Amino acid sequence: MTSQFPCTKCGACCMSIDEIDFLEHYNENGVCINLIEGGCSIYTERPLLCRIDESYEAFFSSYMSKENFYLINAKACNELQEKLQINKKYRVWV
Ligand code: SF4
Repeated sequence: MTSQFPCTKCGACCMSIDEIDFLEHYNENGVCINLIEGGCSIYTERPLLCRIDESYEAFFSSYMSKENFYLINAKACNELQEKLQINKKYRVWV
C-alpha cells in the first residue's frame, strides 16, 4: 500500500462536491467554486475533507484501517470518474 492516497488529480470530486456532506461551496452544477483552470485555487488552505490522508487521521482512523479507507475512497473516485466520463487513465488503484 502506498504511504499517501494515490490521487490522480482527475478533479472528479471537485466537480461533484454537492454529493459530499459538510461541503457547501459549490455552484448550481455541484462544482466547487474554487476549482479553476489548472486545479484548486485554495489548494494549500483547502478544507480538511478535501485532504484524504488528513481526513483519515482526523475522522476515520479509529473506525477502519487505512487500507480499507483507501479502498472505499478509490471506489468512490472511480465511480465519480465513470459518471463524469473522465478518461480511464485517471482511475485510482490502491
Ligand atoms: S476524484 Fe479521487 S482521484 Fe480524482 S481528484 Fe478527487 S481524490 Fe483525486
